[in-house]
Amino acid sequence: MLDQARIEELRQAPVPPAVHIIDGERRPSASGAEMEVVSPLDGQVLTTMAAGGRDDAEAAIAAARRAFEDGRWSGMAPAVRKTILLKWAALIEENALELAVLGVRDNGTEIGMALKAEPLSAAGTIRYYAEAIDKIYGEIAPTADDVLGLIYREPVGVVGAIVPWNFPLMIGAWKLGPALAAGNTVVLKPAETASLTLVRLAELALDAGVPPGVLNVVTGEGSVVGEAIALSMEVDVLVFTGSGAVGRRLLENAAKSNLKRVYLELGGKSPNIVFADAPDLDAAVKASANGIFRNSGQVCIAGTRLLVERSVHDEFVDRLVAHVETMKIGDPLDPETAAGAVNSLRQLEQNLAFVEEARSAGRTIRIGGRRILEETGGYFMEPTIVTGVEPGDDLAQREVFGPVLAVIPFDTEDEAINIANGTSYGLASGVWTADLSRAHRMIRRIRAGMVHVNTYGGSDLTVPLGGHKQSGNGHDKSLHAFDKYLDLKTAWIKL
Ligand code: NAD
Repeated sequence: MLDQARIEELRQAPVPPAVHIIDGERRPSASGAEMEVVSPLDGQVLTTMAAGGRDDAEAAIAAARRAFEDGRWSGMAPAVRKTILLKWAALIEENALELAVLGVRDNGTEIGMALKAEPLSAAGTIRYYAEAIDKIYGEIAPTADDVLGLIYREPVGVVGAIVPWNFPLMIGAWKLGPALAAGNTVVLKPAETASLTLVRLAELALDAGVPPGVLNVVTGEGSVVGEAIALSMEVDVLVFTGSGAVGRRLLENAAKSNLKRVYLELGGKSPNIVFADAPDLDAAVKASANGIFRNSGQVCIAGTRLLVERSVHDEFVDRLVAHVETMKIGDPLDPETAAGAVNSLRQLEQNLAFVEEARSAGRTIRIGGRRILEETGGYFMEPTIVTGVEPGDDLAQREVFGPVLAVIPFDTEDEAINIANGTSYGLASGVWTADLSRAHRMIRRIRAGMVHVNTYGGSDLTVPLGGHKQSGNGHDKSLHAFDKYLDLKTAWIKL
């Protein structure tokens, strides 16, 4: 149960300026530069944050390098690192509501979802990797008797982590949990429009006893701080969640510098496929709506293309529209709200431009399509359903990252597969059918990192998340995530 009185108190609380966390210290930018943090709830300046320069990024990377090399973290017994990380997770939980409301004021996610998906999920993630790290062993290779082959798993070194503005704590923790548990040190670069909670998270890490220099956070522009991290000769591995365009840039910059490993979690244009034999059309309606409209569509795995078998298409769309009409859009700090604010004015304008393009191409805007609640100064948009979309349309090919659903009819399983696989992305997908054989055929044939069957959007930390095709490489979540942060080393000993 959310404590609404406390939420209202936190809504009004002044937000102190955010600064970098470098070498265990709270530091403004060396140049003194700051940038305004604008709240998507009312378009007003919420606070300021340090606008990092190349020198700030380099100072953080140098601190992380020193902290890694002197073994203050990597040299600790994993069981000791575990204790510190567990304390950190407990502190995050103690401060969960404060973190959640701060995040909502910064990026607009509805509070119910923000609390669960942000601080509470981040705490769970840190705890999961902390608990795992003293259960990971090296190996002895099955060699001949006169030699001994040993396989060690060592931390890679300095990790650069660059994260997006949707779910900064959840996605940040997906990187920080395994990276830090494994003994690496980290320089984290939050997104320009969602930095406040990650700075706070790093402060809590210091309070929990994470040594100085082990977790550094540098705020500012991606084109400055992010570039400096990607071009650094001292960063060993770069983990990224964000857009494909920036992902490409990171690969280029890794190639230009030290060939650091780059793991990319990118966007999607995920198909959610409803067959006429779906076991429960009402459940499919609700999950399809939540799968695209929660957090105003700002979810990487959002089911943005709804493929519906033609025989149930009209009925399904009617039911979907009726359901969407019941969704409350607006103040994300109201617990009744189903979808809050769009993260920034720029994003809102991009969303509206997609709708206008579809409208001028003759597609039908069945519901939504407009900015709403403009009088609040906030960035709110109606959930939007566009029907009659062709598979090749921009709306069916490009990621909107907003509350805009493209509906496409199909007649056969083969046609559904061709449409589903017919984009450059391959992040998530959904299939609704009561036919077990068809469900398994679809799982095999859909080219995506994740297939939901008779549900959409859920999974927990035990299941890896990663994209196929241009949705990226590498995986967050589960024990598989350690692969990015632990390097193999072998020893060959003649006996
Ligand atoms: P973005 O790519 O614009 O920014 C992501 C991060 O990269 C930000 O911190 C930004 O400051 C930084 N950046 C920007 N330019 C940079 C540069 N030249 N060098 C280094 N860093 C730079 O993405 P966004 O708009 O913040 O986030 C939305 C995108 O993230 C969507 O495409 C979404 O699908 C994707 N996403 C993917 C997943 C996943 O798990 N696959 C999860 C969430 C979001």
